[in-house]
Amino acid sequence: MKLIPFLLTGLLAAQELSVERMKSDLNALVTREMNGRVALEPGSKLAADFIAEGFRKAGLQPCCNGSYLQEFPLVAPLGDPSASRLIYQGKSLSFTGTFKTAVDLRAPLVFAGYGITAPEYKYDDYLGLDAKGKIVVIFDREPQEADAKSVFLGKGLTKHVAPRVKRLNAQAHGAVAVLVIPSPRSTTAPPAGASAPLRGGAATMFDEAIRIPMLTLSKTDVAKLLPDYESLQDGIDRTLRPASRSVPGEAEIRLRNRGVQQGVTWNVIGILPGESQEAVLLTSHYDHLPERDGHFYPGANDNGSGTVAVMELARAFAAGKKRPRRTLVFISFGAEEEGLLGAFHYVEHPLFPLAGTKAVINLDMIGRDEAHTSQTEGRLNVPADTRLHLNLLGGAYFPALLKQVRRANAKVGLDLDEKFDHDSTQNAIYRCDHFPFLVAGVPDLWFFGGWHPGYHEPSDTVEKINWEKMQRVTRLAYLTAQRIAN
Ligand SMILES: [Zn+2]
Repeated sequence: MKLIPFLLTGLLAAQELSVERMKSDLNALVTREMNGRVALEPGSKLAADFIAEGFRKAGLQPCCNGSYLQEFPLVAPLGDPSASRLIYQGKSLSFTGTFKTAVDLRAPLVFAGYGITAPEYKYDDYLGLDAKGKIVVIFDREPQEADAKSVFLGKGLTKHVAPRVKRLNAQAHGAVAVLVIPSPRSTTAPPAGASAPLRGGAATMFDEAIRIPMLTLSKTDVAKLLPDYESLQDGIDRTLRPASRSVPGEAEIRLRNRGVQQGVTWNVIGILPGESQEAVLLTSHYDHLPERDGHFYPGANDNGSGTVAVMELARAFAAGKKRPRRTLVFISFGAEEEGLLGAFHYVEHPLFPLAGTKAVINLDMIGRDEAHTSQTEGRLNVPADTRLHLNLLGGAYFPALLKQVRRANAKVGLDLDEKFDHDSTQNAIYRCDHFPFLVAGVPDLWFFGGWHPGYHEPSDTVEKINWEKMQRVTRLAYLTAQRIAN
């Protein structure tokens, strides 16, 4: 492997991007006191304040009435399975899912295919279907996901695969609840070991936009509701013609919680004003995981790495002699691990018009070398040497931005890889904060070092960070933002 001496390459003076400062910031974010920086726990406020102080010292302007914190509410219900039920034609069906409030409803059912409305692919499961006041039954995933020739971006996944997109689509069509059928032909990889719910039983946190419950049926009970579900899926996949229809009878849903944890958390946002309201966003998330079974989760790579890179980028741009023409916005999101909630909140409450937001460069897990995990083995092509390897996600949606990154990379020398845009097994498209921007049509890319053993485990520590990679990825983000902001 050839290493390009970082200090000698290109426009950026070495003192403007400092690995030493990034190391110092990272050590501050992984302390026992910060305790995984998880939303709704005290460590997340310590982390948010630390990043805010970094933005202030860099000379950025605060986002929100003199503060660097954009506050937003969170609700985390602890479901009570013994008091919750789903009844269909006198039979009790097993399911997973919770809701933020108690639910008691009884309604007729409709089957709505994949639950997708995608005019860009001339596909609409809701065409001619009256879902108003109904419980909508849908497959998870998207049509033809393993078909390289599919209009749904071939083997890559589109935004329509995301559960939240499906839920909001059902909501927009007047549905009162969603029942999800695990697709029999899904190619998705079984989750790696460490994907247990974040806090005892509360797998999901809720944001303001979600108004209806969504439950996932257990595989064993799907046939009780929709006996021909396998041939239904095959038919849709073969013809790309929706097979939506009513389902006989009504279903009854009763959901109860043992408790509900409520509070607020924060996006940390600093602004470097340009000459216009047009903006370029440099983003990361700072939150990670709670203590579990006495184990502490430092989250050095996920996502201390992206967070300290954004802090360093803020210092470099603020100290630069020439201000970029467009406004630069530096953001570290809260509650990413709970479902990208900070990024969704920003997109719903943007500080600069989304239509004038020229690019979002999202940095998440940029400091480790990709290596196979049980989830990727046999499904994904991971090169043998990933020391200077960086994945870019979102280029299938935003090729012009991808081109800019590739041009900037001529001065950086990373091996850029777009494999996650052509993969249906890892669901990478909706696993990070770039996704809410992608859904909103704002050009964005996720700079992603890739998964590795130790992901979401206590062993995600500072010693394992590849600082050569860290500095190059940070520099690539700098050069890309500089191109787009001028
Ligand atoms: Zn992350």
